[in-house]
Amino acid sequence: MAISPPPQNAAFIDAWLTDMDGVLVHEEDPIPGAAEFIEALKREGLRFQVLTNNSIYTPRDLRARLLGSGIDVPEDAIWTSALATARFLADQRPDGSAYVIGEAGLTTALYEAGYTMTSRDPDYVVLGETRTYSFEAITRAIRLIEGGARFIATNPDVSGPSPEGKLPATGSVAALITAATGRTPYYVGKPNPLMMRTALNRIEAHSEHTVMIGDRMDTDVISGLEVGMRTILVLTGSTRPDQVEHFPYRPTRIADSIADVVDLVRERAPGPHGAITVNDA
Ligand SMILES: [Mg+2]
Repeated sequence: MAISPPPQNAAFIDAWLTDMDGVLVHEEDPIPGAAEFIEALKREGLRFQVLTNNSIYTPRDLRARLLGSGIDVPEDAIWTSALATARFLADQRPDGSAYVIGEAGLTTALYEAGYTMTSRDPDYVVLGETRTYSFEAITRAIRLIEGGARFIATNPDVSGPSPEGKLPATGSVAALITAATGRTPYYVGKPNPLMMRTALNRIEAHSEHTVMIGDRMDTDVISGLEVGMRTILVLTGSTRPDQVEHFPYRPTRIADSIADVVDLVRERAPGPHGAITVNDA
């Protein structure tokens, strides 16, 4: 696919962000090339972050799950929508309080950011992913929002994959709460570019020297683009090649899979500031 090359002066790449599901793994199963890609980044001394909108797990959980798939990602190289949400709230309102609907990934992140969990007059209602949405918890969230709590959600995804089929996700439950309260949440995860910016800040990377890899045009590619990164769309996830041209924006490059990206890291990144251009020339 012919795509114009990046500006000459922005040619070198010294940091990488990558989405997790659909790029490195399909749920539990590794995608061929994923382990090699991570090893190549480590060997070349390049900074990187693995991003996920899933707020269920802590980075430690996710590291263990990835390791179970043969992919060795350090805990501090994992950036979840739960961590991004905790970071956002700690910046906005330090030492605040929240009523949380979510799992350990979200509650741990909020505790570590200095937040208190409460169901009485919290600063925020924070909605994340869970597999056990409770009517009682949703009812409480609705009443707290009506009472003045600000409504935050980790990510807007309305559904997620499972071996048995589609599962309702955070965005669907947020829609229920919105219907009941008339209030829409502020979503921190992708496609909010905030998720990318905070990931970049974490590794002190600059967008013009960073590539974002993802399997979705409407989250990974758009938010990478809006932050000023070059983007690679891989076709191992939810996007078919024929769908790409329908979007009003394009990735810098399209790759069949992460296996094709390994060479971009390996061949042309001799050191922390190694030169690498990402284009189809
Ligand atoms: Mg994905």
